[in-house]
Amino acid sequence: MHIPFVDLKAQYQSLKSEIDRAIQNVIDDCAFIGTSNNKYVKAFEADFANFMGTTHCIGCANGTDSLEILLKGLGIGPGDEVIVPALSWIATSESVSNMGAKPVFVDIEPDFYTIDPQLIEEKITPATKAIIPVHLYGHPADMDAIMAIAKKHRLKVIEDCAQSHGASINGKLTGTIGDAGSFSFFPGKNLGAYGDAGGMVTNNDLLADRCRMISQHGQLNKKHHHLIEGRNSRLDGIQAAILSVKLLRLNQWTDQRIAIAAQYNRVLPDWIKKPQTRTGYKHVFHLYVMEAENRDAIMQTLKDAGIESAIQYPTPLPLLDAYKNQGFSETDFPVASRATKRILSLPVFPELTFEQIGVIASIVEKE
Ligand SMILES: *Cc1c(COP(=O)(O)O)cnc(C)c1O
Repeated sequence: MHIPFVDLKAQYQSLKSEIDRAIQNVIDDCAFIGTSNNKYVKAFEADFANFMGTTHCIGCANGTDSLEILLKGLGIGPGDEVIVPALSWIATSESVSNMGAKPVFVDIEPDFYTIDPQLIEEKITPATKAIIPVHLYGHPADMDAIMAIAKKHRLKVIEDCAQSHGASINGKLTGTIGDAGSFSFFPGKNLGAYGDAGGMVTNNDLLADRCRMISQHGQLNKKHHHLIEGRNSRLDGIQAAILSVKLLRLNQWTDQRIAIAAQYNRVLPDWIKKPQTRTGYKHVFHLYVMEAENRDAIMQTLKDAGIESAIQYPTPLPLLDAYKNQGFSETDFPVASRATKRILSLPVFPELTFEQIGVIASIVEKE
């Protein structure tokens, strides 16, 4: 038996005729590039803003660019510091460095893997300008506590929602709580395109205009009228058309992910630490991350049985070679360091069956 980590083919098969038609429409119109008059890009931006309940959605090339554009749009650059969690995909901290600012790492909460608000204030200096909480694995970071700290110290908050499409806190969607939300539509994310894609959401009109300008070479809906120097980071017409089709299924897919996680919780043995969800929070299970002492052995046994699993992520960000210059060791980030030795992501995709989950659990149990 082979069980993949994600199965993009199964999802395509279930939507083939709609997706194929959407792609063909864009090709027929040669509406490839996301300039301001691209009707497919405009339509997806309106669809996603509507889904989020925000006044603005600005498409861009990927979820790393969306973080960079938002940082730049908020005026963050050289000499500034930005607080980021010690556990995430490198894009979270890389975007800060790419804008000339310094990422300042904060350890995570042991049960939720998101930035620990209790450890943020000790890292704030006069140079601190923003916090980027990451709703890691699809579980929202503790935004009440983070927003209180941000307000007290007048910091901007960019929510990294690359793994949290549709996640919420007491009904409020992640990406609508801070100053802006940054989304990736990488194919394997909960809402994924058929190539790289990203987007930003905000209710701040000025920030929205700035981000749109930055992503469109400094133009704001007017060609050859460059108000500032920007960059090229646009959402493609084909990706936008695909995303509009897939957005209609997002809530259903999220429900399936939640049901899959609940089934894993039921059938995995007691000695496995299961993912926790804070009261009032909606976890959208981009990843189902369990913890075990014998993580490596479990991973190998699954592999031998044809079942893919993964580690998100094997090394805390501050301990990567890329941040050697900051001189950190494991004792600086004890929670993230311990977690990275124990975490294992099991397959999750909406089409995963309870039968497959049963097979996975029975293999884990043998370890
Ligand atoms: C995927 C991801 C990103 C970056 O998205 P790309 O579209 O791959 O550039 C940023 N942050 C987190 C937490 C991610 O998982």
